[in-house]
Amino acid sequence: MNIPLLDLKAQYASIKNEVNAAIGEVLESQHFILGPKVDECEKAIAAYSNCAHGIGVSSGSDALLACLMAENIGPGDEVITTSYTFFATAGAIARLGATPVFVDIDPNTYNIDVSQIAAKITKKTRVILPVHLFGQVADMDPIMNLAQEHGLVVIEDAAQAIGAEYKGRRAGSIGTYGCFSFFPSKNLGATGDAGMIVTNDAERAEKLRVLRGHGSKPKYYHQVVGGNFRLDAIHAAVVSAKLPHLDSWTAARQRNAKRYDQLFREAELPIGLPAVATNRHIFNQYVIRSTSRDPLQAFLKKKGVGSEVYYPVPMHLQDCFAYLGIRAGALPESERAARESLAIPVYPELNDSQARYVVESIGEFVGAAAPVPALSRT
Ligand SMILES: *Cc1c(COP(=O)(O)O)cnc(C)c1O
Repeated sequence: MNIPLLDLKAQYASIKNEVNAAIGEVLESQHFILGPKVDECEKAIAAYSNCAHGIGVSSGSDALLACLMAENIGPGDEVITTSYTFFATAGAIARLGATPVFVDIDPNTYNIDVSQIAAKITKKTRVILPVHLFGQVADMDPIMNLAQEHGLVVIEDAAQAIGAEYKGRRAGSIGTYGCFSFFPSKNLGATGDAGMIVTNDAERAEKLRVLRGHGSKPKYYHQVVGGNFRLDAIHAAVVSAKLPHLDSWTAARQRNAKRYDQLFREAELPIGLPAVATNRHIFNQYVIRSTSRDPLQAFLKKKGVGSEVYYPVPMHLQDCFAYLGIRAGALPESERAARESLAIPVYPELNDSQARYVVESIGEFVGAAAPVPALSRT
């Protein structure tokens, strides 16, 4: 059986007419830069996220960068974030000349360990940038309390978490800003690179709109230096066309996650399962742990099962951040996750027999003949 990590062709087949029509409308209008399709998408994503404002941008990476620019973050400033994330989170900070300050993760959720943030706050700290990894919102209450206490801005990296909830609040609506990515492998993917910032702050929203168009206001007059961070109309139209399906896709991912939980527990495999700590985990990824991760991945490949390591190297050990002087061993849970974690297929169209095949294949690898007690879900 051949099961990819993600099957975007299956999704496209189910909504082909709607997506093609949306793209066709933009082509007929020949209105490619901002305009009505971008406005519509911004309103829809803001509403979906329970936020007042949406600002369409060119990618999730540029969303993070623009938010940091809007706060005038630069050399001498420190931004606290997690070491276990996609590079864009840390890259946005470093590109502006600011210093990323990496915090270890909670090994159960893979999100920033909030108990370790306070110790990293200094006079130079300006921003806390939590990441809602794999589709689960970080523990935001303590983060917001610390931010309030120290006068810090909070930028949520919600690239993997559109529609996820924390205590009934949508990802992106809790901090000062929320950043989404519509990269094709995210739960709501565009037809290329695209992203969105949401905020409840009207002044900051306006600043971002200016920044995404080279800082121009009015046209050809620049009080600030921005960039070309605009969301393309074609991507906006596709995102708007797909948004009405997002909740059913999320429900299917959650169903698949539950099915895996059950199958793994029944098989009593020595595999670590994802912990659900908030009320709406949207499972952009279903990530298991194994102390024999690399051989397991090679075995699954032979069985035709797609998987991926998110992420093999934590940020504090990346060559480009060697100048920070953080040694191996400094953030042990991030380093352990980088050695043990493996994402397996959880995409909405994955069916029961495919999920069973994935679990059976993993069982075959670990030698399920002699059952071993399952790791606790903590
Ligand atoms: C995908 C992702 C980004 C960047 O989004 P792009 O649209 O690919 O630029 C940032 N942070 C995290 C955690 C991501 O997963």
